[in-house]
Amino acid sequence: MRPIIPDYLAEVLGDVESDTSGEPAGYIPELASADPERLGAAFAMVDGEVYGAGDIDVEFTIQSISKPFVYALALSDRGFDPVLAKVGVEPSGEAFNEISLESDTGRPLNPMINAGAITVHSLAGAEDLNPTERVDRVLHGLSAFAGRRLKTDQAVYASEMEHAHRNLAIAHMLRSHNVLTEDPGAVVDGYTRQCSALVTTRDLAMMAATLANRGVNPLSGEQVVPEAVVRQVLSVMFSCGMYDAAGDWATQVGIPAKSGVAGGLIGALPGQIGIATFSPRLDGHGNSVRGVSLFERFSSDMGLHVMEVPAAARAVVRSNHVVAGGPSALRVLQLQGGIGFAGAERVVQEAMAISPSEVRVALDLTRVHSIDDVARRVLLEIARRLTLNGHDVYLVDPESMMPDPDPGDGGRVTVVDNLDLADQRAATAAGGQGG
Ligand code: GLN
Repeated sequence: MRPIIPDYLAEVLGDVESDTSGEPAGYIPELASADPERLGAAFAMVDGEVYGAGDIDVEFTIQSISKPFVYALALSDRGFDPVLAKVGVEPSGEAFNEISLESDTGRPLNPMINAGAITVHSLAGAEDLNPTERVDRVLHGLSAFAGRRLKTDQAVYASEMEHAHRNLAIAHMLRSHNVLTEDPGAVVDGYTRQCSALVTTRDLAMMAATLANRGVNPLSGEQVVPEAVVRQVLSVMFSCGMYDAAGDWATQVGIPAKSGVAGGLIGALPGQIGIATFSPRLDGHGNSVRGVSLFERFSSDMGLHVMEVPAAARAVVRSNHVVAGGPSALRVLQLQGGIGFAGAERVVQEAMAISPSEVRVALDLTRVHSIDDVARRVLLEIARRLTLNGHDVYLVDPESMMPDPDPGDGGRVTVVDNLDLADQRAATAAGGQGG
């Protein structure tokens, strides 16, 4: 069988290829001379499988796509409070290089615009690092996200530094507000090296997949940053990642994303996929023209919008029936799939309807593949309240979906591997009582 996904990717690339609108970034001379025809797209699944089409192994500089990852490093190296004290999380609705700071505090509005990202660079690694050590920490961290050692492009770095007046102006403003406490020139130098890290479309897809996979790189298995950091980063990518196009992006594509002026674009869909595209011609916002079209296609073809409504929670209760009769009758709620709060609420409704005369009740988890924390607590509370109402509660749980279930406070559950066992236990109990 021919592989389906690379064929699909090649087809979509073919559809956008003829669009030659936009221009490569002009303000960094070395980027202006990039081959504008390059085009590639890659999907990295959270199990590490990578699919691609086009120029997915060509290196280019990461540029602003480094921002969410270095934000993640700063949050995990310093903790949330010191970082949030210096950089906000509000969309600016302005261009990436706007000189915009909060009027009273001088705090950059968010970590995705240059003012925020320059500040965030200074917050990566321990406080006492010198500028070279800080760049090492950043490159090492970016490499952990990619799962391979990344290098910088010296020519692009030098070319951007020659024309870095705007970023230097931003850094001096930040210094004057004491948001930056180090030498502004050294911080811009480090930030520009960070932006000059060389990546391929394949690397970017894997970096995005690491975010989609709760901070664990799907290939190396390394937990690069904690899960709480990933949630913060994806949220900020969703509201601020596409600069002044963030609202259009959120409604039309609906995938937390980040673009870079070298033509890269990434998206991370939690729990599912990391996506990356590469095409150097940019629109007026500094986002890749063909990249934006590709993401619009991916989102609508595959239903990847994060606000896409998931399957109804009612499907969690697969069946609600009684097995056997008389005193050994057993009320069985057979559950299935992944259970979150709304699914657990369906179980509450079914459990409330159980008649007091049906003494034996089983929650059958045989077909359940995941139970999140709130659902686990609700199921245990159901068991506790049923016990208090005089029911005998069984948990059919052959795969230990709910290890060591303890409903607490007067609740009791008997864990069995299958329903036959629940029957036998009841028969033994009944026999014991009778004798
Ligand atoms: N290094 C670039 C800059 O600071 C990154 C901008 C971008 O990719 N949007 O201008």
